[in-house]
Amino acid sequence: MQTFNTFKSSINQSLDTIEGHSIVIKREDLIHPIISGNKFRKLKYIFKEVIDRKTPTVITFGGAFSNHLAAVASAGKSIGVQTVGIVRGDEWKNKINQSVTLSFCEKKGMHLICIPRKIYAEKDAAIEVQQILKKYPKNRLIPEGGTETLAIQGCSEILEDEDLGFDSVCCSIGTGGTFIGLIESSSLNQKVVGFNALKNSSITDFISIQTKKNNWEINSKYTFGGYAKTDDSLISFMNTFYQQYKIPLDPIYTGKMLFAIFELIKKKEWKWGKNILVIHTGGIQGIAGMNLQLQKKNAQLISYEK
Ligand SMILES: *Cc1c(COP(=O)(O)O)cnc(C)c1O
Repeated sequence: MQTFNTFKSSINQSLDTIEGHSIVIKREDLIHPIISGNKFRKLKYIFKEVIDRKTPTVITFGGAFSNHLAAVASAGKSIGVQTVGIVRGDEWKNKINQSVTLSFCEKKGMHLICIPRKIYAEKDAAIEVQQILKKYPKNRLIPEGGTETLAIQGCSEILEDEDLGFDSVCCSIGTGGTFIGLIESSSLNQKVVGFNALKNSSITDFISIQTKKNNWEINSKYTFGGYAKTDDSLISFMNTFYQQYKIPLDPIYTGKMLFAIFELIKKKEWKWGKNILVIHTGGIQGIAGMNLQLQKKNAQLISYEK
């Protein structure tokens, strides 16, 4: 049986110099064959606790593109723990097979429960969710996106000693757990720059509460309209990037972040030093699902190798 703790340490890969800026990508997307990038980091200590306490069931939340849901499903399968996914949108109930991510989760044995978006939005208080949780005694609940103390601890292991010489460390932000872990392990001489992948106006307040350090900044100008929204300029950029560097990017997080970094440098608006470390947080499992959607719209597809 594959143990959950086995992973490769990540490698730093240099890109060409862009207008005098050296960009190095930390390939966290390659550390685990299935549980890619930051999702491995976020789940490492949570699943260690699940194993130690012999917890029978893990329950979590996510949408039809959620890398977190896919990671929990495959982590659960690999250690033989039952997983339950509470899915945003009851319209998915009868069309699981139309979501690449949800079908993957089901194949890994995750039990999916699709709930209306309105209830999902209030999931922490909703009676409907409480009723689901009651059906699984002794369950371990993981918050949406996995962001909690143990996840931040795992993400603080992304940066290694040799990374503390970079001027800046960049990552994409969803729920912010990865960003906080990076801030905690960064050197005070570094700037940790986060790129919002969704419209989330409260994220700055959330981060301020979670860390005492202030060597960080959040850019929210490259959300491309919101979570899992894309446009042709983003897809073109990702495809050119892939052609040039053979590094696949995902459309929801890392594609938007690298688009932003390249554009800010080209517009001479990059203010965070010339030695840049970019964290590739993974998310490649989301490409196939996005391509299905793009195909329906007759839009340009994301090129990648399966
Ligand atoms: C989930 C995810 C993120 C966001 O991580 P948070 O800790 O929720 O901010 C970034 N990149 C990828 C590829 C992800 O799957």
